[in-house]
Amino acid sequence: MMKLFKYLKKYTFFIVLALTFVVFQGLLNLYLPDLMADIVNQGVTRGDVDYILSVGGKMLLVTLLNVLSAIVSTFFAAKVAMLYGKDLRSMVFKKVMNFSLYEIDKFGTSTLITRNTNDITQIQTVVFMLLRMVALAPVMAIGGTVMAISKSPKLTMVLLVSIPVMSIAVYFIAKYTMPLFRSMQKKIDKLNRILRENLTGVRVIRAFTKTNYEKQRFEKANEDLTQTALRVNRIFALVFPLIMLIMNFTIIFLFWIGAVQVDKGSLQVGDIMAVMQYVMQIMFSFIMISMIFIFIPRASASAERVYKVISSESKIKDPEKPILPKGKGEIEFKDVTFYFDEAKEPALEDITFKAHPGEFIGIIGSSGSGKSTLVNLLLRFYDITEGEILIDGINIKQIPQKKLRKKISLIPSRPVIFSGTIEENVRIGKEDATEEEIIEALKIAQAWEFVSKLPKGIKTEIAQGGTNLSGGQKQRLAIARGIIGKRDIYIFDDCFSALDFKTDSRLRLALREKLKDSTVIIVSLRVATIMNSDKIIVLDNGKIVGIGTHHELMKTSTIYREIVASQLSEEEIA
Ligand code: ADP
Ligand code: MG
Repeated sequence: MMKLFKYLKKYTFFIVLALTFVVFQGLLNLYLPDLMADIVNQGVTRGDVDYILSVGGKMLLVTLLNVLSAIVSTFFAAKVAMLYGKDLRSMVFKKVMNFSLYEIDKFGTSTLITRNTNDITQIQTVVFMLLRMVALAPVMAIGGTVMAISKSPKLTMVLLVSIPVMSIAVYFIAKYTMPLFRSMQKKIDKLNRILRENLTGVRVIRAFTKTNYEKQRFEKANEDLTQTALRVNRIFALVFPLIMLIMNFTIIFLFWIGAVQVDKGSLQVGDIMAVMQYVMQIMFSFIMISMIFIFIPRASASAERVYKVISSESKIKDPEKPILPKGKGEIEFKDVTFYFDEAKEPALEDITFKAHPGEFIGIIGSSGSGKSTLVNLLLRFYDITEGEILIDGINIKQIPQKKLRKKISLIPSRPVIFSGTIEENVRIGKEDATEEEIIEALKIAQAWEFVSKLPKGIKTEIAQGGTNLSGGQKQRLAIARGIIGKRDIYIFDDCFSALDFKTDSRLRLALREKLKDSTVIIVSLRVATIMNSDKIIVLDNGKIVGIGTHHELMKTSTIYREIVASQLSEEEIA
């Protein structure tokens, strides 16, 4: 938590203001019982109405100032807390945007969302509480004690009993609630995860009629969280009555001892009342302090979670001495072996091949054979374990990531469509694209045939996640986005899969024309899609088991022959 607090530094001025007014408020609080004692001792008991009115007026003024200071200090405390929360949220967001896939895999999406929302809210709340209480409580506790002793040292002795009793009570409360708070954050994570999965997978869940099962799963997590929250609140429900009990007993004792002294004439009635109020203030400040002790651990669990995100360094770093590739997109893999974190088997092993500008390279292999992994490595989403990947003869580790990715256009297998218009989605590939360019890209991607039929054309709004488009339509939009900008290398990762054979072949023909000077890698499960490539790489279980043209591979690679045979027969059956 302390590590996160350093980001509060730039608000020092507001913090000082908030604290100053809090102290002011505390001092005014202490002044009130003193005035009241005067009214009782010198006004009420003597029947001096003028005195009562003048001191009463003073009390009103003090109360007014008190309220004003409270408002001002709350205002600044809230301002600091909110601005601080905003800073933390953008810090986490920026960090996550710069994460490599290692960190994204490591944390997981739902916890990153909880950390950026709920956890930061906890921290924000505590900052606000601290600003309000951290100065007020000591001022009132110490000031109250001093004032009470000045009125009657004997009466103040009551505190010697009630404060230890109260401290013990607070200790036990904190002891039981802290672990509960910690587990609550984890349960919120879990709830978010289930919710997310359900919302993104709602079609599958319906299709498999798993709605009830999912409902139960959500109910369970929800119930679990609720129970924990209830347990916390039950404990808190006890706190208030318990504290009131202790307080009331304290007051009874005060009156008891006080009454005896008043009888003896060694104490005035007003003083008893003042001491009583001071004792209440002191005890309230103890409650405040204990609240701080209860809420800080809760927030510090959150702070730890947020700090873990902020302090995570991306495992993939930019080079210290960057070199910019000058060529036109020549690719070379040299004995590349790659393990995912904690994986025992390599996802890719001894991958060696070359691709030149102007070439169309096909990659084929069963699903899970490592095709996507291979093309992702080229963009340095992960760092390879052994070997070298070169672009234009330069190791990609020596190229700044932004420059590297500017050279490559990757169209992933699962098309990602953002909410917005079709035009906006395509424009991501080239910010300053003209409308003609967008239409041209859509034409090449074979998307124009359906976009042109839409009443609003390229201005058509796409629902979040592209749910109002078919799979093939989404793929074609993603392709249009991928090819609109000029890049040296284009990678199509299995993104023709939802297209029918005719569209697929028309698309490839158009690509051949448009991308004839670039290095193009087409990943596919379908032989027909890659058959005409200049070079075909056959992947099996992370290894290259064949490389060459279709005709060469038909002669040399049994696996390739098997794939071809199985698909041709499938087509014939169809
Ligand atoms: P393909 O694209 O050929 O279908 P992938 O390259 O996606 O196959 O996956 C190759 C292998 O790597 C699979 O066995 C898969 O389980 C594993 N894999 C893919 N992504 C990850 C990941 N993020 N973490 C761990 N293993 C992964
Ligand atoms: Mg894949």
